[in-house]
This record gives sequence, structure tokens and C-alpha cells, in this order.
Amino acid sequence: MRPFDYQRAERLEHAAQLTADAGTMAIAGGTNLLDLMKLEVEAPDTLVDLNRLPMAEIADTDDGGLFIGALATNTATAVDTRVRRDYPVLARAILAGATQQLRNKATTGGNLCQRTRCYYFYNIDQPCNKREPGTGCGAIGGFNRIHAILGASDQCIATYPGDMAVALSALGATVETSTASGKRRIPVRDFHRLPGDMPQKDNVLEPGEVITGVTLPPPPGGKQLYRKARDRASYAFALVSVAAVVRMKDSKIAHAALAFGGLAHKPWHDERIDDLLTGAAPSDALFGKAADLLLDQARGWGDNDFKIPLARRALIATLREATGTNV
Ligand code: SF4
Repeated sequence: MRPFDYQRAERLEHAAQLTADAGTMAIAGGTNLLDLMKLEVEAPDTLVDLNRLPMAEIADTDDGGLFIGALATNTATAVDTRVRRDYPVLARAILAGATQQLRNKATTGGNLCQRTRCYYFYNIDQPCNKREPGTGCGAIGGFNRIHAILGASDQCIATYPGDMAVALSALGATVETSTASGKRRIPVRDFHRLPGDMPQKDNVLEPGEVITGVTLPPPPGGKQLYRKARDRASYAFALVSVAAVVRMKDSKIAHAALAFGGLAHKPWHDERIDDLLTGAAPSDALFGKAADLLLDQARGWGDNDFKIPLARRALIATLREATGTNV
């Protein structure tokens, strides 16, 4: 690990000011960043510790939704009675990730900002356009079992690894940020980027922009599920995951919002799927059409070809369970 300076942010404006400097990074739980620093994938000149800022609250919002502070730990969020009762897909997604010890340290803001687990990104002896733009992509033509089948580019085929943000996408949450000049509200579905020709940029945060929390809309009700397919039963990232919020009325789907993990550089949301399902009577034919939409642009890279049929099966199984049409 390379030497670095350490500062504690005492106020939000102070944090925004400090993190505006190139070479400065914010740290909260540090569950991903410290690993990256030990491997010299990240080598900040200065770390700005956010932990003294009052951003750990989970509070009701005026419109009946819920605000989750950027420093609320994943454990605190997953066990919050309002989250468990009104947004169970979020609690399930968080509990499907990492380990209890990591969830005790990991925060809302840090979870959103965690970086890909692409093997080549973590090995500084390997080419990687995300770590070092212009050096190439070791995963294209290399071992790419965990890589993207949707939205990839010829520069990068990495996936976003998290679970929490997939549930937040299905719930239509909003990321709240603050800069020295004001506040910004970013729909979580627009927060992460596709790699394009700038794979080094994971999300739309600007220098000096600090995540202050996430706002959930009023509870959507219905059945909320998080299905995660992975190589082992715990402490593994999703190969494919599905977050689903589905409400039934009169034997039809009155509301559907789905998001997918493990498939792309961002939690994947396809409005066409929600539109297809909403107002329709559930059937395997309908679910098959939803899978066709999800995968109409899918492309495997060799080792990850299996993700295409796996995503289809995971989506159909989730919809059967959510609509009570299990067979
Ligand atoms: Fe780097 Fe992206 Fe290629 Fe992985 S997939 S080696 S993160 S450029």
C-alpha cells in the first residue's frame, strides 16, 4: 500500500471541498476501498473520512417514503422495521450480499460506489481500461465467467457487483448528493453508467459530489422478491440476480418493476419489461416474452455464455413466484 494523507471531514461542505481535489478519495466503511488500496489498484494521495458526518439516520419522508442516510450501515438498513415491512426486496438484497461482518461496516453510499470485481481490474500486472485507460481489456479474449452480457463495450465488459442497488432500481429510488454549490437528486437507475469509451467512470458523481443518502418512494406493496444465482450459497457475487416488485389485482399484474444484477456495468432496468407485464394476465408465455425483451441484445463472451439462459430462467422463476403462478 502506498503512503497517503488522512483527514476527517467535520462538515458536509468540508467533505465536498476536500473530495473535489484530484487524488483525494472519500472513505466510509472502506470494505472495498481498502482492498483496492492494498492491491494498489487505487492509490489516493489523501483519504477523507466521512464517518463523523451526521448521515446515518433512516427517517420517514413527508410523502410516506423513507430516507436512508449515506452512512447507514447495510446491517442497520436491512434490520430496520420499516425496510423489512415496506421494502422487503431491499432487505433481502442486502442480506444476500457479503457477510455479516462486512454488512456491519458497509454503508449505503459506499455500497453504491463499490467497484467491479473483474479479476483483471484487481491485478495491476494485467491490462485494464477501467484501471488504466488505454491499456486494453484482459477480460475480452481472457477468462470472463463473471462478465457482462448486456450493455458492454469494446473497451470494457465488467459488471457492477452489488445487490443493494439492484433492489433500489426496482423500487425506483433516488440518490441524494451534495456539492459545495448545492444538492442534486439522481434517479438510481441513472446513477451508474455503461462503460462506453470511458470505463474508468463507474457512475455520474462529479469531483466534490458527496452522496448524502437514498430516498425510497412510498411503499409499492405487492410481492417483493430478490433471487440471486451465484457460485456458492453465501459470500459470492451474483452471476445473475433479479429484484422484482409485483402487485396483482383481479388476477392481473397491476404493477411490475424489475431490475437485474450481474448482467451489466450497472443494475439493469428495462422499461419495456415493466410495460409488457403491467396490466397483463400472468402466464408462462408472457414471462417468456419478458425474457425475450431482456435478452434481445444479449451477447456472451465465451465463459459467460451460460448467463443468457440463466437470466431467462431466473426471470421466469421470479415472475412465477411473484404472481403466484408457480408450476
Ligand atoms: Fe478492465 Fe473492464 Fe476489461 Fe475488466 S472488463 S479488464 S474492468 S476493462
